[in-house]
Amino acid sequence: MMRIILFGPPGAGKGTQAKVLSDRSGLSHISTGDLLRDNVKGSTPLGKQAKDFMDKGLLVPDELVANMLQERFSRQDLKNGFILDGYPRNIAQAKTLDDMLAKLNMGIDFVVYLDASDSVIIQRLSGRLVCSSCGANFHITNMPPKVAGICDNCKGPLYQRNDDKEETIKKRLEVYKKEVSPLIKYYETQNKLYRLSGDEKPELVLEKILKISEKHNDSVKV
Ligand code: ADP
Repeated sequence: MMRIILFGPPGAGKGTQAKVLSDRSGLSHISTGDLLRDNVKGSTPLGKQAKDFMDKGLLVPDELVANMLQERFSRQDLKNGFILDGYPRNIAQAKTLDDMLAKLNMGIDFVVYLDASDSVIIQRLSGRLVCSSCGANFHITNMPPKVAGICDNCKGPLYQRNDDKEETIKKRLEVYKKEVSPLIKYYETQNKLYRLSGDEKPELVLEKILKISEKHNDSVKV
């Protein structure tokens, strides 16, 4: 049972890795981006407040995301362990997370910092297609669906995320770069940070994450 954070720039492959890891290990995949998009889709009060920020490539205010996460943490499946994808994104959120987990007598086992170069990010995000029913990701050239516009897994319609337009991608990268260094230091100081390159093939990245988690499992058993 483990609790893992995946962080890194948009397009580094956090969501892809988190989905595979959660399928293989039974850990719950908690993506604040997915949770927010569900709220936008369902036109909830939170979704209505968040939409504009998201479409502009800005962070949704910390308090809104923290309340949403707190609610998610109250669900039963949290005890299976989790992979947190998209949170924290700044130091304030990292501290909020530590407080929330401390109250539950939980801590983070390790943090994977999945980095990627700007050119890879822009190529990946500008060609990304997402299934509107199951959330699976495809790419116009890197990983095209078998039938154009249709999800291989569930036959749902594919769409381009509102924030995957070139201008918004640049804004998201800018926001990300402003916050990333303190966050890296925060987890380095806690001796929890592992750096991996998200430019590499997804299978290779997965292998490396699995190695790190084996190491942590062993140290728990000893
Ligand atoms: P990416 O990491 O590829 O930008 P996400 O799906 O993680 O994509 O996030 C999409 C958008 O959702 C972000 O640009 C931001 O507006 C909002 N968001 C997601 N997670 C957070 C968070 N922890 N704090 C604030 N806003 C968030």
